[in-house]
Amino acid sequence: MAGGNATAGRAEGAGNDAEVAAYRGEILHFVGDPAVLGAAAHRHHADGVLVVRDGRVAAAGAAGEVLPTLPQGTRVVDYRGKLIMPGFVDTHVHYAQTDIIASYGEQLLDWLERYTYPAEARFADPAHAAEVADFFIGELLANGTTTAMVFATSHPASVDAIFAAGQARSMRLVAGKVLMDRNVPASVRDTAEGGFDDSRALIERWHGRGRLSYAVTPRFAPTSTERQLALCGRLLDEHPGVFLQSHVAENRGEVAWVAELFPWSRSYLDVYDHYGLLRERAVYAHCIHLDAHDRRRMAESGAAMSFCPTSNLFLGSGLFDLPAAAGSGVRVGLGTDIGGGTSLSMLRTLDEAYKVTHMAGHTLAPLSAFHLATLGGAASLRLDDRIGSFETAREADFIVLDLAATPLLARRMERAETLAERLFALMILGDDRAVHATYVLGRPVHTRARA
Ligand SMILES: [Zn+2]
Repeated sequence: MAGGNATAGRAEGAGNDAEVAAYRGEILHFVGDPAVLGAAAHRHHADGVLVVRDGRVAAAGAAGEVLPTLPQGTRVVDYRGKLIMPGFVDTHVHYAQTDIIASYGEQLLDWLERYTYPAEARFADPAHAAEVADFFIGELLANGTTTAMVFATSHPASVDAIFAAGQARSMRLVAGKVLMDRNVPASVRDTAEGGFDDSRALIERWHGRGRLSYAVTPRFAPTSTERQLALCGRLLDEHPGVFLQSHVAENRGEVAWVAELFPWSRSYLDVYDHYGLLRERAVYAHCIHLDAHDRRRMAESGAAMSFCPTSNLFLGSGLFDLPAAAGSGVRVGLGTDIGGGTSLSMLRTLDEAYKVTHMAGHTLAPLSAFHLATLGGAASLRLDDRIGSFETAREADFIVLDLAATPLLARRMERAETLAERLFALMILGDDRAVHATYVLGRPVHTRARA
């Protein structure tokens, strides 16, 4: 993470309760998928104005058109020279693994045993959970991420901690208690019935409270009994609107283990399908070692994939096939997957997404990349009617990007002629230093401290 504690400026603008505010700068947002709509998918205003009223987008357009419509006395924040975009959407991340980012030497199954389970065991302590949750949320905002789908740990207190930390900043968060009742140490293990009861209580406590949503969270098939997986389906059936998050087909050793544990299954994905866990609002991280049948099932069911390139490279798991996923019609979002991933920055994640896709002989176009990190991610979570765009009445979660944040970035931008070239340089060279400010529901929650 570049820079120091980047939350220093959180209070800038605090206390401003004006109902209407306008932000002038270069504006970019998406109204659809560039792969489908081409140039009609994005809206770009070199000199634009974003108008926010009561935490929602009131207008976004060219300055010459919008400024004359503003009520007399409207405060106009001048971000000319900077790029205003919707906040990033991280569709897969583990807040409890913040402290094991950059842990050496293991692939998935050994990495879980050696680093993850010991780190997650500490979240039985609510004070530890609260301290990490607060730091993690601060880091998300410093990186321009305003919505995240988050794994807690198997301890209910860990869920309370992350929801409380998100709620304190009015963030849109989806999170849940990890369910795992076998093949893990006792310190992080639950039982099928106990996990069900805890999940139900947490849904009642948090789901739909403010901007928070609950996700039923079986870690992955090898650490849940068939009874537990069946109860996950029951939780979803009993609570419409609740999400599901899990992992599938990340690592070849894991895939082989699932085949041993569930000998009746056609594939790893088929295990989840069997228990009714493929559906809308179900988000599966990785999806690397899938076949065409699996991809088709995901698309038909309405489930979504989370592409986690830094994690897949760091843990040596494999290369996600973005063109195959897109070709099957399945929804795809982008995930940092901390702590298997190596950065909470969605810009760093896009850099690796580009390389992974390039390895397979394809290119991830810059506009498609920024769609993936914003509206595409929102659509994968079925939240695209609320976030991810500056269409009127969307929740005003936005970021202000400084395309001259570092000397090298500034120098490269001088040579970039088109919007696509500038976005590409930003995603290849940018990181949290390029996030000048982050707003949630129209309120500033992070401003980058001057270097
Ligand atoms: Zn993960």
